[in-house]
Amino acid sequence: MCGIVGAIRANHNVVDFLTDGLKRLEYRGYDSSGIAVFNGEKIKRVRRVGRVQLMEDAAKEKGLFGHIGIGHTRWATHGGVTEPNAHPHISGGLIAVVHNGIIENFEEERTRLQGLGYEFESQTDTEVIAHSVKHEYSLNGGNLFEAVKSATQNFHGAYAIAVIAQDNPEEMVVARMGCPLLIALGDQETFIASDVSAVIAFTRNIAYLEDGDIAVLRASGIEKLIDKTGNPAQRKVKVSELSLASLELGPYSHFMQKEIHEQPRAIADTAEVFLDGGFEPENFGENAREVFNDIDSIKILACGTSYYSALTSKYWLESIAKVPTDVEIASEYRYRDVIANPKQLIITISQSGETLDTMEALKYAQSLGHKHSLSICNVMESALPRESELVLYTRAGAEIGVASTKAFTTQLVVLFGLAVTLGKMRGHISEEQSHAYTEELRQLPGSIQHVLNLEPQIAAWAQKFAKKDSALFLGRGIHYPIALEGALKLKEITYIHAEAYPAGELKHGPLALVDENMPVVVIAPNDNLLDKVKANMQEVGARGGELFVFTDLDSNFNEGEGVHVIRTPRHVGILSPIVHTIPVQLLSYHAALARGTDVDKPRNLAKSEIGRASCRERV
Ligand code: GLU
Repeated sequence: MCGIVGAIRANHNVVDFLTDGLKRLEYRGYDSSGIAVFNGEKIKRVRRVGRVQLMEDAAKEKGLFGHIGIGHTRWATHGGVTEPNAHPHISGGLIAVVHNGIIENFEEERTRLQGLGYEFESQTDTEVIAHSVKHEYSLNGGNLFEAVKSATQNFHGAYAIAVIAQDNPEEMVVARMGCPLLIALGDQETFIASDVSAVIAFTRNIAYLEDGDIAVLRASGIEKLIDKTGNPAQRKVKVSELSLASLELGPYSHFMQKEIHEQPRAIADTAEVFLDGGFEPENFGENAREVFNDIDSIKILACGTSYYSALTSKYWLESIAKVPTDVEIASEYRYRDVIANPKQLIITISQSGETLDTMEALKYAQSLGHKHSLSICNVMESALPRESELVLYTRAGAEIGVASTKAFTTQLVVLFGLAVTLGKMRGHISEEQSHAYTEELRQLPGSIQHVLNLEPQIAAWAQKFAKKDSALFLGRGIHYPIALEGALKLKEITYIHAEAYPAGELKHGPLALVDENMPVVVIAPNDNLLDKVKANMQEVGARGGELFVFTDLDSNFNEGEGVHVIRTPRHVGILSPIVHTIPVQLLSYHAALARGTDVDKPRNLAKSEIGRASCRERV
């Protein structure tokens, strides 16, 4: 996912905003960037492959200035990473466009536009937007809004776009379909961005666009806005409470490190709803009691790290709440024949709330007759909660590192709260047990802080990992998904090949990989499966594998030849998977440091939105 920004400022140059905003969107992943501004005479453009800083330096050198402009960080989907493919794209020297997303029918559109005499300078899908808008603009005698409206009717796919015209330098037209876009309103200045981090240094008054919206903007604000039906609409202006400090590194070296260390706070904030309000269905929405009484099973749809939080929660939902739970990767579900069950609650999990596959999977489930849905997201009012019947937000705050950390552990808190809530409603949990769970939740941030204090020991292990090409992660039961998450973190940010297995599966295949070059991480808390895990470790030891064991203080493990042990300070029962996530996050982080990779922006990966944190109504 790339980022787009734009600005119309009556009394200021827009270039500083555009470059600053793009830098703040860098976490989304990008390979090139560019801006286009109208300098009073012409639209001037600067584009560069590589870091935004290079583009900014070039813009300064060229002395770019203007009161209206657009900018883009590209994450190439169509056409290589080259300067001609970088945005903005310009048609006929007149219309400049930035685009986030994919125009699926770009080939037909390109053929159509070539037939009309348009020449293409790039291999991108985006260039069809520029020519198509230009074509409509010329036909309708210079109405940019109508031109964008007609052009977008021809596009299939996902987009957030911003368009300016050289002969109409007071206006910008924006449109959104499937990709996030917001408008930020200042005093005689109006901004647009893919997310709030790009604008809050300038203004906190934010209106979020919805799918199908098209808007005309001027320095004075939103001139006109229509929704997907083509009718005039209004979008509420909210005041973002995201703090600028949350977007800065502070004393940390990387956002990932900062976010790992923020987990005690993020978890305490997320747990507050259950600690203050009890395990009550109303935490999930006004009619949640009714919905939860109507369901007979759960299906969770998610991608990546969120999928692993879903897998973990299956253990809680089936053991605590006794609700049959099925977990599926959203991008698989959305394309297969499914047997729908209107009594099944569909849960979607996504940090951003905008994950496209998860969103499409939810829509698919709804189209098949699933009527009950709950979303668990970190970004207020994002697409998934808007489409869902119920929602409970994690309160992780902005997560800027591409590799998810605090979003994962806070999702687990919400899912645990859901399991206890359903367990209580269904009479599987006594008041006393519910108090015990509350107490465990209350103590969780403290337990996590203790694990964070083990960072130096884990960093020392990481030095060894950094020299390896592969690693194996083992866990059993509810800790198996944590092994999966550990392997994912390691491959995402260190590029070391890593796989996770339920420890009992070793002898059915992966044991063949084990030798002295294959470090094996074992998540071995002191639970009812500990003896089984120990037996699996013997199998590894006997093949010369080096074991790195994360266990609890009260389990008796001995260090020895080829066996390294780190003890988390105390056994934390049912919430143990959350506590045992922290060591694998730290291990990956320090291994990445040792290998010198770009921790916060791993190659080829990106993130859709960092967190809209809290917004309040504007009075
Ligand atoms: N599909 C467009 C391209 O490849 C936009 C990609 C993006 O969202 O950065 O240029």
